[in-house]
Amino acid sequence: METIETRPISLRPSAAPARLKPPVSVLDLSLEELRLNLATHGQPTYRAEQVWKGLYGSLAAGTDAVTTLPAPIKSLLNEELPMPVLAPISSTRADDGATHKILFKLYDGRAVESVLMRYEDGRATVCVSSQAGCAMGCVFCATGMGGFDRNLSAGEIVGQILYFARELHAEGRKLTNIVYMGMGEPLANLRAVWRSIENLHEPKGMNFSPRRITVSTVGLVPQIRKFAEYPLPVNLAISLHAADDELRSSMMPVNNRWPVSELVAAAKEYTERTRRRISFEYALIADSNSSVAQARALAALLRGMLCHVNLIRLNKVPGSPLRPPTAEETRAFQRELEAAGIPCTVRLERGADILAACGQLRIEHALAT
Ligand code: SAH
Ligand code: SF4
Repeated sequence: METIETRPISLRPSAAPARLKPPVSVLDLSLEELRLNLATHGQPTYRAEQVWKGLYGSLAAGTDAVTTLPAPIKSLLNEELPMPVLAPISSTRADDGATHKILFKLYDGRAVESVLMRYEDGRATVCVSSQAGCAMGCVFCATGMGGFDRNLSAGEIVGQILYFARELHAEGRKLTNIVYMGMGEPLANLRAVWRSIENLHEPKGMNFSPRRITVSTVGLVPQIRKFAEYPLPVNLAISLHAADDELRSSMMPVNNRWPVSELVAAAKEYTERTRRRISFEYALIADSNSSVAQARALAALLRGMLCHVNLIRLNKVPGSPLRPPTAEETRAFQRELEAAGIPCTVRLERGADILAACGQLRIEHALAT
């Protein structure tokens, strides 16, 4: 494990000013909005497409680096729609360099982390944050322990993705998958999350396939219903982690508001409406949710649904007594689900030695400063 501190910084809340919304950036706008914006400055519509092609298609590092733009337009954009501030303040690599995690400092001193995972078959996945912190308070999650700061703007979300797309581009590789599984609850910031997806999908720019995007939610039922209405075929993952209310409520406070039965009903509705398979995330925790009896209960809950279960062995969080089960217990859990006909995989632990579970790098950094 190699950590490079690129800048000394304090992440204490007192270091951050009270403004809640970042300045509007060029990455917040849709292509149509950018056309209209530039038109109010007397610019022809093709300028917006040049910006778009430069930033999303050719992966220029910023508007200044878009070679097709004349200097006056660059200054206009810098003044009116500056690129979002995403300053890498800590960079950590693991898995022989295949996993790269960055802690970005935002314009107001808040910090979020994103992870790039390269695979041998050529795939490369970015795990992106949707909020600085999280208000959901799941007991096993480092982000939840750190509390909620604010929503990210669409531009701040897109900016994380473009950062890693540029890193891959420099190696002659391409970004193939995006997962909204970093810090924060994406469906609690749905408007910005959706805008970020639309911008990445825009055919005049990156033309990123929505089928290669996964949004993960803690289980906000009304937002799941809303998400099902959206037109692009983005994948949805639900963090279930327990099949009964008593246990799930003890792990995830959100379950007191939308219990397991309501959540699973919303998931079923989602699959029926969209005809798309839903994923359930299940983090296995020793002596808690990982017994064979619990696997049976999970199978009974999901029977007949168009779904897939991702089993994740818990990533240990410093200061928490929770730990993953043994490899044998993990296999027994998986076997039980498979025997019941529920498709499932045990997710590979990437970057476990760099504390890849969301929110951990931020905590480490705050402790060190
Ligand atoms: N807020 C969203 C997305 C971000 S968390 C959600 O909860 O779904 C991404 C995934 O990491 C979720 O499935 C979450 O439950 C899981 N997770 C959080 N902390 C973890 C840990 N310590 N070990 C394993 N998985 C964890
Ligand atoms: Fe928030 Fe997801 Fe962590 Fe729960 S698991 S605290 S919803 S980021």
